[in-house]
Amino acid sequence: MERAVDFFRDRHMLCGHCGRRWVADLEWIDRWSDSQESCPGCGVTCEAEAGPRVTVDPDDFALQDDEITQFAWYHTSTHPDWPDFDPAASLNDDSRADMKSDALLDNWVDVKRAKALHVGTYEAAVENMLRRIYDHQDEPGTQFYLYRLHLVPTVAVRAGWIPDPGNWMGDVMLDEVCPPGVDVARYRNDREDAGGISLALGRTAILSVQRIEIPLLLDEDSGWVAAAVRELKEAGAEPPTSGVIRRDVTSPRYEKARELVAPLAERLPTSLGRQFVAATAFYARSIEDWAAYVIGLINIILAPEQALAWRFHGDLSSSRVKTEEGCSDLR
Ligand SMILES: [Zn+2]
Repeated sequence: MERAVDFFRDRHMLCGHCGRRWVADLEWIDRWSDSQESCPGCGVTCEAEAGPRVTVDPDDFALQDDEITQFAWYHTSTHPDWPDFDPAASLNDDSRADMKSDALLDNWVDVKRAKALHVGTYEAAVENMLRRIYDHQDEPGTQFYLYRLHLVPTVAVRAGWIPDPGNWMGDVMLDEVCPPGVDVARYRNDREDAGGISLALGRTAILSVQRIEIPLLLDEDSGWVAAAVRELKEAGAEPPTSGVIRRDVTSPRYEKARELVAPLAERLPTSLGRQFVAATAFYARSIEDWAAYVIGLINIILAPEQALAWRFHGDLSSSRVKTEEGCSDLR
């Protein structure tokens, strides 16, 4: 079963000061974040310590225990084999040397593996990728994968939901949120698809996983790519292939690239538009690759039905799933 994807959906608000609940659109929330709006109940702004905040939709299907194994859940990662990647594979030689002994390294790997996995709505997964690039945790153009997964039908789900348990890196130990006998904990995601329900879980709760590579190029994109390449060449633009990524440079070649990205970014909610601009920095790709990346990245956001219909196919009711991009059988 697939939930409707809507990056523009209204959010449920709850004022911690007066208890008022209401529904706000994203423009209202942007103004509120700028202290230009206040609680309709008591008048406090976002600066109030316990003021209004985005909260969960009480009618969210994900709050029903018998529904959460029916949905597809999503995750984005730079690991091509999530969730079975080897944490030590990302260590360089210096980091390994710092570990000094194999026992220390094993311990470090155990700690990494004891961390909860996070999955959420399609929107949350995509927003997580964009935030990571915006926050400089990953470079623009880094290869990301979008994962779609189903849970084991018999998982034990923790009652209700908890506030977003992650630290600034999103890290949380599994046993902190899933006590013995519990496989999955629901939490209110505050950072991506705010107010949506995400899940903290361990590997054994996952039944099957599918993967597509980001960006997602569609047949109809060839016209946009060709036009963008032509305009960039006419402007004498070549992306810099080395050095520090500078997002604020004002040379003509950067300006032309920004001109091409701007109308696309305007089609997104404000905060997402900002992140999209960061993720499409004109850097380290050929002109053709850059143009394809730009349009293929916005497809993930604005044409999710194409991503879901085109690549994520296969019978997920069985524990062995074959798709064009391959998958993992985790049982
Ligand atoms: Zn209030």
